[in-house]
Amino acid sequence: MKRYLSTETLTIAAIFLGIAAGVWMPETMLSLKWVGDLFLMLLKMLIVPLVFASVFVAIVSLGSGEALKNLGLKAFGYYFLTTALAVSTGLLVVNMIEPGSTHQMAAAAAVSKPAEHTFASLLLSFVPSNIFASLSEGKIVQVLLFVIFFAVAALHLETARRETLQDFFESVNDAMGKIAEWVIALTPIGVFSLIGYVIAKEGLATLWELKSYVLAVLVALFIHALVVLPAVAAFIGRFNPFDYFKRVREAVLVAFSTASSSATLPVSIEVASVHGGVKKESAGFILPLGATVNMDGTALYEAIAVMFIANSYGVELGFSQQIVIFLTATFASIGAAGIPGAGLVMMTMILSAVGLPLEAIGLIAAVDRILDMFRTAINVWGDLLAAKVLNRFI
Ligand code: ASP
Repeated sequence: MKRYLSTETLTIAAIFLGIAAGVWMPETMLSLKWVGDLFLMLLKMLIVPLVFASVFVAIVSLGSGEALKNLGLKAFGYYFLTTALAVSTGLLVVNMIEPGSTHQMAAAAAVSKPAEHTFASLLLSFVPSNIFASLSEGKIVQVLLFVIFFAVAALHLETARRETLQDFFESVNDAMGKIAEWVIALTPIGVFSLIGYVIAKEGLATLWELKSYVLAVLVALFIHALVVLPAVAAFIGRFNPFDYFKRVREAVLVAFSTASSSATLPVSIEVASVHGGVKKESAGFILPLGATVNMDGTALYEAIAVMFIANSYGVELGFSQQIVIFLTATFASIGAAGIPGAGLVMMTMILSAVGLPLEAIGLIAAVDRILDMFRTAINVWGDLLAAKVLNRFI
């Protein structure tokens, strides 16, 4: 059957319709939550097998541990550069807009003290002690670490045995890609329900109450997404980022509506390799890695949120404290899982680093879901650009 409207066009329409429906008929949208949940579950169903197979295939196709090390080092170098730029953009904008000068501490008192995240607990959480538990619980970082070991070990096997494994995982990968295609066809319906539900539940009024903070986050995110990231990617990767965006934007739209980099991963891998001209070694390795460790939007948001909280508490954070924020926001974004709200939880790491009370996250919790949608879209856009940039070095 000829398709008159592309899934992308329908997805964009679904976002606007979802917002309108959330505002005008909240009851209906609340009762239709299951539709969005169904879409999310179908995406999530694909994550673990897809990450496992795509990372395995990508590493084994690279052909040697040396090539992997090279690509890995370049990937981390690029991630670090863009994350550092994201935090700097955030700090620059927040120092200009200075949100939160009026005291808004009442909201914070309503939230009980959240659990604190430390550097050591974060590091330990990356390592699996039982890979089957990690697989069944969908612990992506742990799965990634294991599959990297597994694939590098496979590279040490004799050719025939390595090829048996490679053939198997290539078939798994292709079959998962097929399912991803089917699920992607449902995007407009899923997106409509997800967005409509969020708007019906959260409302847009809270955004207005925290307008200077919301504005600071959005301005910084847009500067990073439209100016900084494209400039860096075009310079290093030698391609037109805006032309590339047109080909992969479906993944950015899904990221926006799901607020989850992990759930978006099946879509990112599919659009980057099928439409974006990204090689399987890059799409299959850089995207899963990026979805868990490269979160520019989250890093930028963490920096602005902590400054906003400090301002609201009347605490002055000077240059040296902002260096601490720079470092902790970078680590927090690496440690944040690609799921909704993870960035808010990681805020505890930064708050304790600069001596602010942990319950202060109550100040920003009300608008977090909507900002999460924007920052996740930027996280995924950053990953898609990284995959295309690193494509050049394979
Ligand atoms: N939701 C974000 C993501 O999945 C993480 C965050 O909360 O900042 O990329």
